[in-house]
Amino acid sequence: MLRLARAPNIAIATLWVDMLRQAGFDAAMQRYFLGSAAGELPPGECLPEVWLMADDEREAEARALLDAFLHMPQRRWRCVCGELVEGGFEQCWRCGTPRPE
Ligand SMILES: [Zn+2]
Repeated sequence: MLRLARAPNIAIATLWVDMLRQAGFDAAMQRYFLGSAAGELPPGECLPEVWLMADDEREAEARALLDAFLHMPQRRWRCVCGELVEGGFEQCWRCGTPRPE
């Protein structure tokens, strides 16, 4: 397993993990839980991280996917099937219909 990225917050980390899982990766969010050491570590140490739990050999593929995802316009749209598609997906995750222009 390996670390792919550090997310600015848990909501975004969850979104990235969902996106990676939908692409077939075994991704998971990991967090640092600071105990008595809190205050001694830099603030970045308590941010959520996105990890690849398996398929280490697909790291480049996962990073490319994450990178493409980050550069996609973040908006939501309503598919013809009624599903609300969020997070920059170009295709409905429920029925596979492409995003309308
Ligand atoms: Zn749909």
